[in-house]
Amino acid sequence: MKPLVKALAVGLIAAGIGVIAGRMLAPTPKPIPSDPLGKLKYGNEQFAKGALQTPKVDEMTRYTLETEGQHPFAVVVACSDSRVPPEIIFNQGLGDLFVVRVGGNIVNAENLASIEYAVEHLKAPLIVVLGHTHCGAVKAAVDGQSLEGHLPHLVRHIEPVIRQLRHTHPHLKGDALIERVTQENVRYTIRVILERSEIVRKQYEAGKVQFAGGVYHLREGKVEWLKLPEGIEGDAHAEKSAKEASHSGH
Ligand SMILES: [Zn+2]
Repeated sequence: MKPLVKALAVGLIAAGIGVIAGRMLAPTPKPIPSDPLGKLKYGNEQFAKGALQTPKVDEMTRYTLETEGQHPFAVVVACSDSRVPPEIIFNQGLGDLFVVRVGGNIVNAENLASIEYAVEHLKAPLIVVLGHTHCGAVKAAVDGQSLEGHLPHLVRHIEPVIRQLRHTHPHLKGDALIERVTQENVRYTIRVILERSEIVRKQYEAGKVQFAGGVYHLREGKVEWLKLPEGIEGDAHAEKSAKEASHSGH
């Protein structure tokens, strides 16, 4: 073999090995989760990275949703704040999320009715309560200033959380207190849903609906998922149900 040809051949073989090695070393893309909470976590990661996939909003989706009805995979109880639209921050399309929005992501009888409808009639398997940083309702409740119109009715729902925290964590002040109230308000809303709604409680105890709670960070675009009290944690509940199912199977 002539030197030039030989050099070319060696080069080509080396390049070939490089390509194969590159393929072997290239990270395999993570599969998109299929479980409800996994889908929301994945969607929010894509949103925060700016790597949005076009959500399902096309004509065919609209036609299917009209003719076959809606089957949302999660109920999201979120604040009305214009900076926290659940469909966008979770990168979801039409028919995916059943959204209940009210200032301070609190629940009252009307909200509970909407949640019950989604759980009982639409069989939504996940309820997410979502707070967010810089929440005006939380701040107003912490400041305790006198408010006009119907605002006192809304803020009243957050006050038990503040009273409890002032008792258990008297050192918390300013931003640290607001941050903690935002988190505890999410947990409190979950507790209120479970305590006040027999429909949701029954579905939860039957393992048909799970809970998750998070705080959305405005600037980062990321949802910080909160640890929920023992017995409400969605994942733990799922594990427990699976264990019980496997025990009863033997
Ligand atoms: Zn808010």
